[in-house]
Amino acid sequence: MNCLEQKIVKDGIVKEGNVLKVDSFLNHQMDIELFNEMGKEWKKRFEGKRIDKILTIEASGIGIACIAAQHFGVPVVFAKKSKSINLEGDMYTAEVESFTHKNKNQIIVAKKFLKEDEQILLIDDFLANGCALQGLIQVVQSAGANVAGIGIAIEKGFQTGGKIIRNLGYQLESLAIVESMNAETGEVVFRAQ
Ligand code: 5GP
Repeated sequence: MNCLEQKIVKDGIVKEGNVLKVDSFLNHQMDIELFNEMGKEWKKRFEGKRIDKILTIEASGIGIACIAAQHFGVPVVFAKKSKSINLEGDMYTAEVESFTHKNKNQIIVAKKFLKEDEQILLIDDFLANGCALQGLIQVVQSAGANVAGIGIAIEKGFQTGGKIIRNLGYQLESLAIVESMNAETGEVVFRAQ
């Protein structure tokens, strides 16, 4: 079991509705030592690939992406979530349905921060149905840049996102893949990697 899996078993809380609460170490209070180990691991898994920039999505991806970026020596850009439909033309946009809040947001990235032919590493905290990632992929493609790889902290392997993204041919590296979880017993089972 790797350190993220150990932390999930120790401090994660399984909620009804296929939600894993990890706010004590990942997306509210943040365990920076753990983030650093995660960054190190992604660096290893994407060894040999050219990465020019990390793209993530606010808010939970930002801390993870920033610590990971220190291992890659690249800047971080985060997509902003916006309800506004009157956006200026100097933005790339995509529509993303939120898994946790069940509403739709537009995500926006200023055109000046994504350039043609850049190799982009996408980072996020969770992968559930893959909507957030597909929005980020759309933004990267709009810029004429390339998705070099995708790093996810926790993939819920029993939801559809992982399969969709792997079928699209991307190198998806999830540091913990939850195969099943039980809200009554609190048990979490991981996919062997
Ligand atoms: P997707 O777009 O893949 O359906 O969902 C991914 C997004 O929803 C992530 O950015 C994450 O913020 C949120 N999310 C999905 N599942 C969970 C979960 O079980 N727990 C938490 N805390 N966030 C989740």
